[in-house]
Amino acid sequence: MTSYLIKGAAILGGEPTDLLIEDGRVVLDPSAVERSRDRGDVEVVDASGLIALPGLVDLHTHLREPGREDAETVLTGTQAAAMGGFTAVHAMANTEPVADTAGVVEQVWRLGREGGYCDVYPVGAVTVGLAGERLAELGAMADSAARVRVFSDDGHCVNDAVLMRRALEYVKAFDGVIAQHAQEPRLTEDAQMNEGELSGRLGLRGWPAVAEEAIIARDCLLAAHVGSRLHVCHVSTAGSVEIVRWAKSKGWNVTAEACPHHLLLTDELAATYDPIYKVNPPLRSATDVEALREGLADGTIDVVATDHAPHPHEDKDCEWQAAAFGMLGLETALSVVQQAMVDTGLLDWRGVADRMSASPARIGRLSGHGRPVEVGEAANVVLYDPSFSKVVDATELASLSRNTPYAGRELPGRVVATFLRGNPTVLDGKLQ
Ligand SMILES: [Zn+2]
Repeated sequence: MTSYLIKGAAILGGEPTDLLIEDGRVVLDPSAVERSRDRGDVEVVDASGLIALPGLVDLHTHLREPGREDAETVLTGTQAAAMGGFTAVHAMANTEPVADTAGVVEQVWRLGREGGYCDVYPVGAVTVGLAGERLAELGAMADSAARVRVFSDDGHCVNDAVLMRRALEYVKAFDGVIAQHAQEPRLTEDAQMNEGELSGRLGLRGWPAVAEEAIIARDCLLAAHVGSRLHVCHVSTAGSVEIVRWAKSKGWNVTAEACPHHLLLTDELAATYDPIYKVNPPLRSATDVEALREGLADGTIDVVATDHAPHPHEDKDCEWQAAAFGMLGLETALSVVQQAMVDTGLLDWRGVADRMSASPARIGRLSGHGRPVEVGEAANVVLYDPSFSKVVDATELASLSRNTPYAGRELPGRVVATFLRGNPTVLDGKLQ
């Protein structure tokens, strides 16, 4: 295994430091680093001007395999993840077949390990076939080789309150968490975009904020009632941030995520009728974006999660109404967070490491990820150049799909290197 001497990296944006990556671990001991300079077997990486962060962890990724390998595979999705600085992703359960058994989650977990680009932690479905009728084999998935701790029917809301209560109760046995896609179904029938003055003008059916907020409020109360862990997926409204803040003030075990696109883009983009901007939950108002940023900055929102949702050309290159919901996110997440949170002064790099690595790893109960860049820790490390600026070119993405809402848009920053347990998955900005 090659050793790497990383010269002049600013760990979490601090003073430039030399660090050695050896035998899959981080070595900061000055004498060991010094000795490595004369060794022929050590590859030197010039990291001057670069920030070192712990490998990013995504709580919300759609890898599409099994079933929709025309959109993404575990291999291409984890390559995209590595290019984005991720060393671990949670793969959502809405595959074909659905990840609702030990067999399917073990298959996805193994594909991630075999690829070697990024660890894949499958999310188990809450209900059989995501149908919202009866609980899936949560215990068997937790006991499987994939050791599932996060369960979600993402794409669908677990709408039945009795079922949601049972799921919350069930996962307590193995310290699991229910990650809810909060969407009241009746209030959002055929919903196309954020409900507001603009949806009326554009003639697109509205997706009202209350449909998200009502479910989040109910689930917070349920989680408190049974003393279990709730995680709220892709919070998108100012009201949702308020409800999560209230639940946390009560001491309840509630965590929440925001997606990069909800931190940067607004519903005004729907006026283009370009379904590249069609996503669920929808892009919201500038006021909502502001509230999400504040919530992320003050810790009400624990994590940034990408909701990376690859779709083949034919599912997006059509009329708005007919197009699929979702957009790519893995390869642009850190750049979007830099623009929305760091360059605005709302979050420093220490905060970014918390929201994009430590907190998601803690919620997913991952032991080998989300650890600080410190002596003896597994070398899951990203080197990032915040001074770089680029215009996003969809054709250059590692993802199999091209549905990025940032194509043609200038974004700051570039992932220069990603190390997974000491192995470079990305070096010099290129996939290894
Ligand atoms: Zn969702």
